[in-house]
Amino acid sequence: MTPIVELSDVRKTYVMEAVDVHALRGIDLTLRQGEFTAIMGASGSGKSTLLNVVGCLDQPTGGVYRLDGERVDGFNEERLAECRRMKLGFVFQSFNLLYRATALENVELPMVYQGVRAGERLQRARQALQTVGLGDRLDHLPTQLSGGQQQRVALARALVTRPRLLLADEPTGNLDSKTADEVLDLLVRVHAQGNLTVAMVTHDPDVAACAHRIVILHDGRVVHDQVSPSRGGPAIPHIRSIGVHGVAKERECE
Ligand code: ADP
Ligand code: MG
Repeated sequence: MTPIVELSDVRKTYVMEAVDVHALRGIDLTLRQGEFTAIMGASGSGKSTLLNVVGCLDQPTGGVYRLDGERVDGFNEERLAECRRMKLGFVFQSFNLLYRATALENVELPMVYQGVRAGERLQRARQALQTVGLGDRLDHLPTQLSGGQQQRVALARALVTRPRLLLADEPTGNLDSKTADEVLDLLVRVHAQGNLTVAMVTHDPDVAACAHRIVILHDGRVVHDQVSPSRGGPAIPHIRSIGVHGVAKERECE
């Protein structure tokens, strides 16, 4: 089967006034249908840059990127936007909800851009909010919801478009540990139910341990690519500069 994501020697250099910043220095990475991958690494190692490139939010400056079999490096802004709209779902640390729109309207919005009819939009948005446990919060504004609930709205919004790939950048980073666990459990559950492909950036080994696969970046390169401890793989290596301490805690995943 065609991989969802295929990166070959992908590079990203930010040209600055004083110095060029080599954020990605030749990434080879394949994500297959149904895989749940955690991307780890110290601050500044290139995790967000990688997610932005994979998420068609930014273009690589070198290498080849195939999304769902289609070569997308070199796409113009319009075609990148089309890829995002039709193939990708995003969850960010800061939720990124529209603050004047209700939970239901937030979840409906990406389907407006996909051209889904109003009746179907409403029905799918309700269903998605029910799936994330917010069936009784449809008309609440984000300010009337807790952080965990806002992130669950964001997850519903990402899933309602039926993306080929869900990208999450520190999805639990703004949440207290109990709420973070609830959001993570939900992510694990929707992944398992939907045969969804997930790539999640995190610096937390407990969070990463829920993935099937752990990819670690250092200085714009992949330095580890291994099966997760939750799947019988080795302990997550120590990443000193972000204070990751060896073995991840035992955690029930799936
Ligand atoms: P991480 O998410 O792992 O903390 P980033 O991908 O955000 O790392 O950053 C990787 C490197 O690229 C860092 O050195 C950062 O300063 C640099 N960088 C990121 N975005 C930009 C940008 N828009 N312009 C210039 N440099 C950037
Ligand atoms: Mg980052």
